[in-house]
Amino acid sequence: MLDEVIKDIQRALFESDVNARLVKKLTENIKKTCKLDEIPSGVNKKKLIQKTIFDELIKMVDPGTEPWKPIKGKVNIVMFVGLQGSGKTTTCTKLAFYYQRKGFKVCLVCTDTFRAGAFDQLKQNATRAKIPFYGSYSETDPVQLAIDGVDKFKSEGFDLIIVDTSGRHKQEAELFAEMKQISDVVQPTNSIFVMDGTIGQAADGQAKAFKSTVDIGSIIITKMDGHAKGGGAISAVAATGSNIMYITFYLPKFNLLFSFIGTGEHIHDLEPFTPKSFIGKMMG
Ligand code: GDP
Repeated sequence: MLDEVIKDIQRALFESDVNARLVKKLTENIKKTCKLDEIPSGVNKKKLIQKTIFDELIKMVDPGTEPWKPIKGKVNIVMFVGLQGSGKTTTCTKLAFYYQRKGFKVCLVCTDTFRAGAFDQLKQNATRAKIPFYGSYSETDPVQLAIDGVDKFKSEGFDLIIVDTSGRHKQEAELFAEMKQISDVVQPTNSIFVMDGTIGQAADGQAKAFKSTVDIGSIIITKMDGHAKGGGAISAVAATGSNIMYITFYLPKFNLLFSFIGTGEHIHDLEPFTPKSFIGKMMG
């Protein structure tokens, strides 16, 4: 019976793109924890096994600590990083909107001079949500834009300044150099790495590459609506150490906290990450 239930769970995990090594380790843990001989008769064994598996998975993504949150009345500068198309610009506005509704004085700075139309996209999103923004059609230096935008909003007393940066199609030196320069001038309170939840096993390498360049404190996984189940992201966490901490997780070795998941293209489609509901969704 244990083998049967474990097979079902393994199937669900593979479908969610959790990597094979991690599934194997998880299975071993479950076999160790779940001692069927010692269960009194009358207890529903299948339910118990499922609960053990669920708890094991939660342990992998629950850091037991809260992800980073901005503090009202202080200047909180948040820098967003991630590859092009990961959902950075969309998520910046979602996060701005989320905290604006909680009473923060929020604004957005666009430093993406790489992708054509990036500033227009941020401008449109921000205007729709009535969030003050800064950007330029003529300035081509992202570092200068970051300095100007952050200085302006700091002097105007904003308490949450969200800086969107440009991405590239892949992890490349130029992108990382730019990210580092912006981070050096902006001195962010927190840097959030935005990861596309549909990339599966590539999550590991991507998380590592970004984390080694900038001091990332949180991850937001996007596109968790549709088919993406985020198993790749969990694997990325697990591959880095023995326990995972949070999606908006916490990857222990990286000390990364998953804070939110993106669940659609609209401004409301952002949910705080909670291990239980995430694992519940992942397991279907
Ligand atoms: P950027 O290049 O990283 O700034 O990415 P964008 O913010 O432009 O997003 C790329 C595409 O992904 C856009 O079409 C967004 O509407 C879409 N997108 C972003 N977040 C989500 C999400 O959580 N779910 C879905 N379905 N689409 C998303």
